[in-house]
Amino acid sequence: MVKAIVGANWGDEGKGKITDMLAQDAEIIVRFQGGANAGHTIVNDYGKFALHTLPSGVFYNHTTSVIGNGVALNIPLLFKELKEIEDRGVPAPKLLISDRAQIVMPYHIEMDALEEERLAGRSFGSTRSGIAPFYSDKYAKTGFQVNELFSDENELKDKIHRISEIKNVMLVHLYKRPPIDEKELFETLMGYRDMVKPYVCDTAAYLYKAVKEGKNVLLEGQLGALKDPDHGIYPMVTSSSTLAAYGAIGVGIPPYEIKQVVTVSKAYSSAVGAGAFVSEIFGDEAEELRRRGGDGGEYGATTGRPRRVGWFDCVASRYGMRLQGTTEVAFTVLDVLGYLDEIPVCTGYEIDKEVTEDFPVTSRLERAKPVLEKLPGWKCSIRGIREYGDLPDNCRRYIEFIEEKTGFPITMISNGPGREDIIYR
Ligand code: GDP
Repeated sequence: MVKAIVGANWGDEGKGKITDMLAQDAEIIVRFQGGANAGHTIVNDYGKFALHTLPSGVFYNHTTSVIGNGVALNIPLLFKELKEIEDRGVPAPKLLISDRAQIVMPYHIEMDALEEERLAGRSFGSTRSGIAPFYSDKYAKTGFQVNELFSDENELKDKIHRISEIKNVMLVHLYKRPPIDEKELFETLMGYRDMVKPYVCDTAAYLYKAVKEGKNVLLEGQLGALKDPDHGIYPMVTSSSTLAAYGAIGVGIPPYEIKQVVTVSKAYSSAVGAGAFVSEIFGDEAEELRRRGGDGGEYGATTGRPRRVGWFDCVASRYGMRLQGTTEVAFTVLDVLGYLDEIPVCTGYEIDKEVTEDFPVTSRLERAKPVLEKLPGWKCSIRGIREYGDLPDNCRRYIEFIEEKTGFPITMISNGPGREDIIYR
């Protein structure tokens, strides 16, 4: 059975924790999109980890971790991450890398940073991981698939030359940088080849067989629905689809095999990067939520930069859950809100003097002001509670209010960063 774990919002909803938790009963965990541009924070028996490329199942002996064809594969970073977890006592994970995954090239990373610098005040707030140049090349058909590392070396050199001709126009003339050193790039790719060799295979065929044998497979999404290039807050989105539906393409299995979509949604909002964020809060109020948020504050797992924070947004979350094809919701980081007397929730957007509950296109979204409703807080710690009925009345009221407003069943409530901090409903 295939289950996707995806985000309802702007990312950082706590998908890593939920994946790590659900991986106890899974055999295979697969990344299907994105790259090392966002991180999943996981707290377990081995300590606290920020994973960027490895699937969140790598901490178990019984799971196989797969990097699917849809991923933007940064090879040196993947191996750095592998070494880091092994150095901290985690047994070497069983890892498979798709032979059709494409490679994040050094010039993708360089050009991402150069473009952000060029845009200055108009930048996207990119993590400069090369993701936008990478996916642009993939769809312009100028990318490199992993299997090409193993093809004829002269063919590879020819292709490096052809691609460099295009890249150099931008590097030299737009960014005033030196052109690509083709020889050095070839050597880098040969280094990549040696690193990935033991892991590369036809992962789509492997997964197809596993699914037919009834194995439990988790597809782990990165970022959230509002960062999807089609349905999100374009252009302040990421460059690969963040939706569960893309899981089928990003790993190569039939779409009808994804039977469950667990959409992770956080009890308040947070976002990184630029773009409209209607329920955002500022000043001391924001600083307090940021400091108390997540596990050790709302700061990016990849960049360490402060995340933007705000109240729970029913309009954006309902839209995100709908697009994900949600079958159930995991509601996370609820424990953080225990300090508030009253908890504002955004239930509508006011746009041009009209209130709507439908998530608008970006040009209208930028004019939206939040309509807030205040719910009473519960003013205590809910950490350690394992039964829904043991939660304070106002806490259950908050959950049920959000469930009613969003229209999707909340079946899991996360009240702490650890694997065991979960209430099933
Ligand atoms: P992801 O990218 O969706 O995996 O999310 P991140 O890992 O970037 O952000 C989630 C943060 O919240 C991490 O620091 C987690 O350890 C933490 N976290 C997850 N669930 C909970 C929870 O229920 N309570 C608290 N306090 N922290 C949580």
